[in-house]
Amino acid sequence: MKRIAFYGGSFDPPHNGHLTIARKLSDLFVLDEFTFIPAFHAPHKKDKKPTSAFHRFAMLSLATEIEGKIKVSTVELDAPEKPFTYQTQAKLKNDSPEAEIFFVIGADSWAEIDTWREWEKVLTQTNVIVVTRPEYEIDFSHVTKEIKARLIDLRKNGEQKIKNGEQKIYITDAVNLDVSATEIRRKIRAQENDWRELVPNEVAKYIEKYELYI
Ligand code: ATP
Repeated sequence: MKRIAFYGGSFDPPHNGHLTIARKLSDLFVLDEFTFIPAFHAPHKKDKKPTSAFHRFAMLSLATEIEGKIKVSTVELDAPEKPFTYQTQAKLKNDSPEAEIFFVIGADSWAEIDTWREWEKVLTQTNVIVVTRPEYEIDFSHVTKEIKARLIDLRKNGEQKIKNGEQKIYITDAVNLDVSATEIRRKIRAQENDWRELVPNEVAKYIEKYELYI
């Protein structure tokens, strides 16, 4: 059975945190494919106007160009009705009925997951991998008993590889990097040049060429 992870977000811009997550989870969860899904706009981040989807898609493509198993999907960019996550998940399941699917989110998304449309579906219709972030506690008080029963906390098991997931919610600290797109955009605006170290080289060149975030 093919094992595929999908990782949705704004990727505005894609950064080393995102890429490290893709590589590390591919190894840890023995994945055949890892697919980034840039959102048309993140439906739960209404206060923020994202950079053009074309730019975000281009940056993700550059960032993953040399990675054989890491891809970028246009499934959300192609959808004129701008789908919610649970709808995208259902489509991905439908498109790959034979695959075991893992849906990746960060600790900040986990903390506010109960504000997402049909959030219980999001957490139960595929496996979910929650990746810790240094500034975010992982708390479980906002989820139901049914959701709690699916939790597998890998933080205690170190580098152990996971092979037999069945609609579980995995919590992993295998990456735990303090990189955020908001901070990168802030650094670019403030002309703090160390932002380049936080994104793949090709992405840094692209941001400069098209004068993004200034
Ligand atoms: P922003 O600062 O604009 O919120 P971001 O860095 O969180 O951006 P997104 O594109 O919003 O990037 O992230 C997509 C997904 O990746 C979200 O689920 C987010 O929680 C997760 N994520 C982003 N950066 C990290 C990180 N350093 N560690 C773990 N998860 C992350």
